[in-house]
Amino acid sequence: MLEVEVKYRVNDLSVIEGKLAGWRPQPRRYEVDHYFNAPDRDFARTDEALRVRTVNEKNFLTYKGPRRDPQTKTRFELELPLADGPHASAQWRELLSRLGYRPTGVVSKSRRPFTSNRHGFELAASLDEVNEVGTFVEIEVVTDETQFQGAKDLVLRMAQELGLNNPERRSYLELLLGKERTAFQFHVVSTVAELQREIATAKKRSVKVGFVPTMGALHAGHAALIDRARAECGYVVVSIFVNPTQFGPKEDFAKYPRTLHEDVDLCREHGVDLIFTPSVDTIYPRGFVNHVEVGQLATVFEGAIRPGHFRGVATIVLKLFNMVQADVAYFGQKDAQQVAVVRQLIRDFDVPVQLVVVPTVREADGLALSSRNRYLDATLRKEATVLSAALFAARQAVQNGERCSATIRQIMSTIVAQAPHVVLDYATVVDSETFREPQSLTGQALAIVAARFGDTRLIDNMEIGGDA
Ligand code: AMP
Repeated sequence: MLEVEVKYRVNDLSVIEGKLAGWRPQPRRYEVDHYFNAPDRDFARTDEALRVRTVNEKNFLTYKGPRRDPQTKTRFELELPLADGPHASAQWRELLSRLGYRPTGVVSKSRRPFTSNRHGFELAASLDEVNEVGTFVEIEVVTDETQFQGAKDLVLRMAQELGLNNPERRSYLELLLGKERTAFQFHVVSTVAELQREIATAKKRSVKVGFVPTMGALHAGHAALIDRARAECGYVVVSIFVNPTQFGPKEDFAKYPRTLHEDVDLCREHGVDLIFTPSVDTIYPRGFVNHVEVGQLATVFEGAIRPGHFRGVATIVLKLFNMVQADVAYFGQKDAQQVAVVRQLIRDFDVPVQLVVVPTVREADGLALSSRNRYLDATLRKEATVLSAALFAARQAVQNGERCSATIRQIMSTIVAQAPHVVLDYATVVDSETFREPQSLTGQALAIVAARFGDTRLIDNMEIGGDA
């Protein structure tokens, strides 16, 4: 079907309401639209849109094609009903994310529709109050191709009759993103004073502050965290700091990739507002002595193999949380044990931040993106796919009814061992909060794997289900 639509910015909706006397008022609706961008093309360029819409309790999946004429916002539209309720909406959004669709923005509005029949068309006029964007009137007719011209003439005539004269062709999403992007200037800062000055400016405008801590050498995995923060927050801060205290003496701190110029470009492209790139002396000035001691989680798997690693992680994360004072912090599922440590840290120290965990971004052949993948030569790069292959096999086994941890471990290590140059550190199944290994899978289980390919150590994990 075609949605033949015009939209006008208005200052006072009550003036327009007064002119809709002959129209039938419909109940007020609260609409929340979660928009996504495609993995294979940029909807901003192709002028398409995909969203999960919630109207009161009802959910819909909507696709919109490109706008097709310069005067109206007419476009092909397909809107399909989904199951009701917030859980269904969250699940559909998760499905889209897992398929590579990136959340780009959330538009929420209160809408008062009025309807009227004119010249054989069902006309709808909506008085919209859109969060952070403004007040608008939309007039639309849903029709088919053959009726396009008649419908277009009618909506334009209605707009004239209602005295609407400030047309807006941009979608609410474009208006929202445009507003957020231009509201703050992009800054790269390296001192705590500059960081806090910029954040204080943002907070004065009552925007939500999202924070993505990284060690730089940014890739599409980091970009997924940034995109999620961009979609959910008015102000996005990324820190780039290769933290020496989380590297062991024999680890790759000195040779860890540092690509600040490219990182700044990626951040700018993804709409980051502020990059914080402190020096080691800024973070650990002379006289710095205290560290966060991590409990049980620091004694197993990554904690056991990399002594001191989580002490370094927890210390830097707590420091950054205190410096940035973000509302929401974004971490990758890729580093699942780190997520467990950070969750415990937030809980134990009452850090007033919400933790959002973003699904792992993978290459087409399954390898999880990592800054360390660039160390791999062609042979090792190919071999490294055994990690994700082992995780997928573990998940398949659970789907087929397997519940014995030892059997799942065996399946995973057999697959990893197929790589000629691999040294396996561990391949097992744990509880995702405690990282304890159950004998048999009862609740939701996490398969985890770590191995060395030459000098390069890679880790990966996957939720594999179990009996919830
Ligand atoms: P790093 O720069 O390696 O410290 O990573 C910074 C953040 O990006 C951490 O929260 C990681 O878990 C996350 N991250 C790294 N790789 C990926 C990936 N492939 N997918 C999703 N998140 C990732």
